[in-house]
Amino acid sequence: MPRTLVFFHAHPDDEALLTSGTMARAAAEGQRVVLITATSGEAGLAAHNLQDRGLADVREEELVRSARMLGVQRLELLHYADSGLHGDRIPTDGTTTLCQTPVAEIAADVAKIVEQERADVLVTYDAAGGYGHPDHIRVHESGLAAATLADTPQVFAVTAPREPFAIGARLADRLLPLPEDFSLEQFETAFTPRRNISHRVNVRRYVDFKRAALRAHTSQASGADIRTISALLDLPRPLFSLLLGTEFYQRLR
Ligand SMILES: [Zn+2]
Repeated sequence: MPRTLVFFHAHPDDEALLTSGTMARAAAEGQRVVLITATSGEAGLAAHNLQDRGLADVREEELVRSARMLGVQRLELLHYADSGLHGDRIPTDGTTTLCQTPVAEIAADVAKIVEQERADVLVTYDAAGGYGHPDHIRVHESGLAAATLADTPQVFAVTAPREPFAIGARLADRLLPLPEDFSLEQFETAFTPRRNISHRVNVRRYVDFKRAALRAHTSQASGADIRTISALLDLPRPLFSLLLGTEFYQRLR
């Protein structure tokens, strides 16, 4: 019996960065893969002077391409406004950001889809929201609430072991010139302590799908700043596979 897995993400490109290997593997193994993305990521950084609606349209198209490459059978965009890196963005078009929306309202939207799908598994974010983006924390809270509403049998948080990031951040703090808003504390509390990680998914055979999904998000790879995505895509294939060949989950329920 094929199972249905629903992945709930905050912004276009999060699916590529965090769960694309698992999604591609599940789809290849005959499971039904559904992707829900809360916002259109219009507060993200981009090369072209795109902002708000213009950038939202571009990022939605990129998300559609990424989802197609990963074998996603249903993609739902919830169209909440991006809250921005500090969670205090006020959209110029009067729309409501994800962080301004009550958790119960978001959860009801997500639960509707999860129920239609009779999902066996819901994947949301960890309690830290990964590295702490306010929209990611909102996805954790509303994902959990949606799973309760829909009575989803299995709920996981996509995450990563905290320790290597904290070690890297401490090294960088000592050795590198860092931006003013660099916060060592943020890394010490990011993601999940290694001992709480319950599942490691081997996706080494699917790293080419992951690369392709990342490459679909070109607006995030071509900025003037060094962006995570372009930095990852520049890695030689064996190193990319080593770093991104495992995806980590914590069972929440
Ligand atoms: Zn995000």
